[in-house]
Amino acid sequence: MARLLVIGCGGVAAVAITKCCQNSALFTELVIASRTKSRCDELKAKLEGKTSTTISTAQVDADNLASLIVLIKDVRPDAVLNVALPYQDLTIMEACLQCKVDYIDTANYEPEDTEDPVWRERYEKRCKELGFSAYFDYAPQWAYHERFREAGITALLGTGFDPGVTSVFTAYALKHYFDEIYTIDILDCNGGDHGYPFATNFNPEINLREVSAPGSYWESGKWIEIPAMSIKREYDFPQVGKKDMYLLHHEEIESLAKNIPGVKRIRFFMTFGQSYLTHMQCLENIGMLSTVPMDFNGQKIVPIQFLKALLPDPASLGPRTVGKTNIGCIFTGVKDGAEKSIYIYNVCDHQECYRELGSQAVSYTTGVPAMIGTAMVLSGLWNKKGVFTVEEFDPDPYMQMLNEYGLPWVVEENPTTVE
Ligand code: NDP
Repeated sequence: MARLLVIGCGGVAAVAITKCCQNSALFTELVIASRTKSRCDELKAKLEGKTSTTISTAQVDADNLASLIVLIKDVRPDAVLNVALPYQDLTIMEACLQCKVDYIDTANYEPEDTEDPVWRERYEKRCKELGFSAYFDYAPQWAYHERFREAGITALLGTGFDPGVTSVFTAYALKHYFDEIYTIDILDCNGGDHGYPFATNFNPEINLREVSAPGSYWESGKWIEIPAMSIKREYDFPQVGKKDMYLLHHEEIESLAKNIPGVKRIRFFMTFGQSYLTHMQCLENIGMLSTVPMDFNGQKIVPIQFLKALLPDPASLGPRTVGKTNIGCIFTGVKDGAEKSIYIYNVCDHQECYRELGSQAVSYTTGVPAMIGTAMVLSGLWNKKGVFTVEEFDPDPYMQMLNEYGLPWVVEENPTTVE
């Protein structure tokens, strides 16, 4: 029996909240708070009568620490699930710390204003020291570890699909299949088609920032950075077919490199069609992906935020998207002296997700693990004090819940590996 405060009410939140309502023995009370309260009220109206979970709603600006503290003190939740944007991670973590409440999220912190001088100084130092230049990294959230531990509370970072399930797959592979993992290739394939010339499957600003940045991977104890989209492979994905995929930087590489002993190489690949890449290249060339505010007719606008306003809302793609996602990890390593490889993956069908919850598969595959990670913390099954990522806990109960809540997984021995 637990009371959960959910912050944010977009595509991912809608799935996470609906799945909490399917697990009402644990999630007895939900408070949904977001910038636009009407979206919380709409979701509440949709769910009420179909669940025994009690739902209430509130308005909050999660960039404002004082407002968050007032809200948390008022709600007195057992945990806070942050499914707003990565920009709000630090304010929400700080509020949880001050109120001594457990914290859960699905994506690591990145700044909204990449020209902020305080952030830039730290960023440039990190680029030089670590060798990757993505706008996001775990350092600002890991810096909370001691304070969370001393306060006797837990922060669970990155419990979406990737990061999230991919790291739980890694912990599961290490527990049951390997004495040592040598390489991890995380493959994120979206074989869905929404019929628009160009749209993103989750928040366009966050998504376009991620895919237009230089790629990087972890090899022999260090980062290797490459120009954006410069490493391409083709892979024949089970239930989806052959797709081109490109090496990207991705946040779970950073935590897996720290937490998987002896791992020699970790790469992340995502599939993109040629049309998506051509649109993105064009938008980049003309400056529409810029995060730097500019003057326009006497008003300050951020080009990528203006672009977001023009693009289809990811939450509206559900009814139009057909096809499947396949996300998983290929591991190589050694067990009892013998070299081996396995592939653990989930296949998710966009139309089935839409029929079940009214969402497309990208929101679905993120929202379900957000609920499961929260359930792990609230039930006490994952009980360590401090700041952690999901691979630092026992993967078995999480893997079982994936099967129960709509994301069944497969283990394939001797898969085709990626060159
Ligand atoms: P959306 O843009 O659909 O939703 C974001 C929500 O956060 C909206 O309800 C928005 O409110 C709210 N919000 C934004 N700013 C504030 C603020 N200052 N105060 C309060 N609420 C705010 O995003 P998604 O649902 O697609 O993504 C949610 C999170 O999931 C993101 O952090 C994303 O990076 C992460 N994600 C993780 C994945 C994974 O596999 N790990 C995959 C996909 C996404 P409003 O309605 O007013 O705009």
